[in-house]
Amino acid sequence: MKKWVYLFGEVAAAEKYAGSWEGVRSLLGGKGAGLFDMTRAGVPVPPGFTVTTEACNEFRKTGKFPAGMWDQALVAMKTVEKQTGKKFGNPNNPLLVSCRSGAKFSMPGMMNTVLNIGLNDGVVEGLTKLTGNARFAWDSYRRLVEMFGTTVFNLDDEVFEHPMAEYKSGKGYKLDTEMTAEDWQALVSTFKDVFKKHVGSEFPQDVYKQLELATKAVFESWNGKRAIAYRKKEGISDDLGTAVNIVTMVFGNMGDDSATGVAFTRNPSTGDKMMMGEYLINAQGEDVVAGIRNAEAIVNLDKEMPKAYKEFMQITGRLEKHYKDLQDVEFTIERGKLWMLQTRNGKRTAKAAVKVAVDMANEGLITKEQAVMRVTPDNVDSLLHPQFDDSAMIGAEKNGTFFAKGVNASPGAAVGQVYFDADMAEKMSKEEKQDTIMVRPFTKPDDVHGMIASKGVLTSEGGATSHAAVVARQFGIPCVVGASVIKIDLERRQMVVGESVVKEGEWISVDGTTGKVFIGKIPTISPSLEKQTELLTLLTWADEICARKNVREAPAKGYPTRGLQVWANADYPKDAQRARAYGAVGIGLCRTEHMFFEPERLPIVQRMILAETSEGRTEALNELLPYQRKDFDGLFEAMDGYPVIIRLIDPPLHEFMPDEEKLLEEVITMRVKGETDGLKAKEELLVAIKGMHESNPMMGMRGVRLSIYMPEIVEMQVRAIFEASADCTLRGIVVKPEVMIPLTGTVKELEWIQPRLERIAAAVMSEKNVQFEYKFGTMIEIPRAAVTAGEVATRAEFFSFGTNDLTQMTYGYSRDDAERNFLITYQEQGILEVNPFQSLDRGGVGKLMQWAIAEGRTTRPALEVGICGEHGGDPSSIEWCHIIGNNYVSCSPFRVPIARLAAAHSALKHRPQNGAAPKKKAPAKKAPAKKPVKKAAKKK
Ligand code: PEP
Ligand code: MG
Repeated sequence: MKKWVYLFGEVAAAEKYAGSWEGVRSLLGGKGAGLFDMTRAGVPVPPGFTVTTEACNEFRKTGKFPAGMWDQALVAMKTVEKQTGKKFGNPNNPLLVSCRSGAKFSMPGMMNTVLNIGLNDGVVEGLTKLTGNARFAWDSYRRLVEMFGTTVFNLDDEVFEHPMAEYKSGKGYKLDTEMTAEDWQALVSTFKDVFKKHVGSEFPQDVYKQLELATKAVFESWNGKRAIAYRKKEGISDDLGTAVNIVTMVFGNMGDDSATGVAFTRNPSTGDKMMMGEYLINAQGEDVVAGIRNAEAIVNLDKEMPKAYKEFMQITGRLEKHYKDLQDVEFTIERGKLWMLQTRNGKRTAKAAVKVAVDMANEGLITKEQAVMRVTPDNVDSLLHPQFDDSAMIGAEKNGTFFAKGVNASPGAAVGQVYFDADMAEKMSKEEKQDTIMVRPFTKPDDVHGMIASKGVLTSEGGATSHAAVVARQFGIPCVVGASVIKIDLERRQMVVGESVVKEGEWISVDGTTGKVFIGKIPTISPSLEKQTELLTLLTWADEICARKNVREAPAKGYPTRGLQVWANADYPKDAQRARAYGAVGIGLCRTEHMFFEPERLPIVQRMILAETSEGRTEALNELLPYQRKDFDGLFEAMDGYPVIIRLIDPPLHEFMPDEEKLLEEVITMRVKGETDGLKAKEELLVAIKGMHESNPMMGMRGVRLSIYMPEIVEMQVRAIFEASADCTLRGIVVKPEVMIPLTGTVKELEWIQPRLERIAAAVMSEKNVQFEYKFGTMIEIPRAAVTAGEVATRAEFFSFGTNDLTQMTYGYSRDDAERNFLITYQEQGILEVNPFQSLDRGGVGKLMQWAIAEGRTTRPALEVGICGEHGGDPSSIEWCHIIGNNYVSCSPFRVPIARLAAAHSALKHRPQNGAAPKKKAPAKKAPAKKPVKKAAKKK
């Protein structure tokens, strides 16, 4: 008989069956595995058992418990009864249990949990006698009836909350703590009526029936709406299923010597090495998590219950060392005795992720590699996200737009329009494309969709561990909680502080870093990387990993055995300086034509384009030469010692000319008005522009084709590059210019143009009498160039994949139009998983690249290979570039830090097994032919 149920003490059996700790986590869920592990480590965990995820998956298939499961659960209950000395359903000495969900990956608040199972009309009396605390017993019972209704039978919270609010106001109570035993008892009776009315049957008195229904409800909650939405967002597989943990109840609400709380072993918002948490005396767990009552900071527990506090600090310290990560723990103190209910790796902000990883590596708890792997490229991205401009904030405070201050629960700046419920926030964000801020008194798991859709979240209640805070941190949404001065009026759809009123739809600015909220929009600025010392350290470690020899297997001669370098796309010296500050070690693309658009240059460029003779063109180009020389000079100076790839002119010439329609309009207006001054020139210009018209300019006279048709432009550019290089060299700057020819489709094009340009290079060097390293190479952005890369490499000393054009040409999708036309539909319909212009299509475009590299290196083993399309900053595309043997990726300066981390992740993920020396393999180009055959065979 298959084992579906494991007692907490049966960790060895679970490990044996599952084969590894990872397997145990899959089988018992993260929470279950944590409880087993804690039990093994001698941490005080209330006795219990776990029903496996395998049982859940069987249940999901058939709607029934698998054969034998329930019997095993009953036997386990007997053991727990023995361990606790209590009896389930026995009024004289009752055992109460909780039934908690727990999947392999934490899905906080997304699935069901039922507490206090085992209470009924008889047991509540017994519990009263046993504890001498009638108030506690009846309060526990009403919680069970309420949770059973809302969780097991999906009733609205309202159906219970409403009569409770009425009861309290009838008695003139404000707080739950004012309720007496008799009050709770009266409410239990009301709740049972409510239950019967909405469910259609009595609240079950059979405690085993309670347990069975609760277990089924937990299984079913795997497929609840919010759980599915959460998994989709987090990329968690729908097939994993949840385990059910049945745990002896311990009570934090047994009186003033009892308490319950949640804590993080380090600050999950900043990463500071300091216990952060909250507790409530005489309360139950959900009171803290829901943030309904304002909880005490954990340090105060030292004064109220010193013994329990000391033990708590000692155990959490041990847990952190054991798991080598920031722990998020739940605990209860029952009549002075500490119980640990849960430990898991805590969710944290990007800032905390970096700080904790770096600190733990420095403390020797983890390796630098582990630290690097713990931080995601998304974390780095959000750390470089906008913050409010300090001076604008000070200004806002002075001019009276400051609204309120709360707890800074999740850092970052958010500006948006206020909506007071999750559905509206989601709707306005998705359908109206508004930036929204969701404002609620407090949030619940049902609000998550609104939070995810919003730029920021604001609550008037709850603390740093409230639901809103935890979820916002996890998703990197700026969030302020517990801004208690704000009175939220959900009926009138407004919030008020003193005289200030903010109505639904109005703009506010929420600063999750300081906890401040302002009326209106405050400008934001990008944070500087230079000040983020931990992040800088982590990125240095990432670079070290990539720089290691043999971190990559080389399938053939010439392939790099180090990881990827990160270069940047930069046109101007200031971009190059930023790129260097962000850690780029080369310029992978300087789009020279961008400089042609500058106001003082454009007329010269236009004159050059309109010149009818080569001499006329050359004359205009001679005027442009000093400008370009200066551009390049600045780039070389900024990149002293690093390679700089300068791409020769690429776009079609009409892009530099005035807009045809606008010009036509001007000409017609002048004609109608009879204005003659300048009319002839405009008419001639119009004719010239018309003459340049192309039906498909992206596939027309651009790139190398233009250079062959009109070589004077690139001749000037090459002269400017080499003159600047020579001048810099003479000034002691180390230059490594690389001249890049765009849009090559056949080697014949290179054979035509390249020697002419090389002659200019040689001439300049001899004129200036200096020597320096340089290269001539090409972009690979036309499929034909990729396919014939072996030939192309006879001329090109380097390849740079222009994956914007290569994607466009491979799919045949216009890069300018596809996104606003069919691409979204394609993604919605699942025809495309992701937008191929954002993330490289490995199966098509990626295969062409792989082929091109293999062919290219067969011709020229030392071929340098990079990528300079937008994909160069996308982590998944970067991983592909690592796999196929790029030397570097090049992306916008702002994405360089993300790319550095992604490059290190790729290196670690794909490093040769056991650190073995790289094996010689067949060149990658042979692989595509073999793989499909293997796959087909497997499918059969
Ligand atoms: C490319 O095509 O990927 C590229 C970098 O060139 P551009 O975007 O300038 O066409
Ligand atoms: Mg291109």
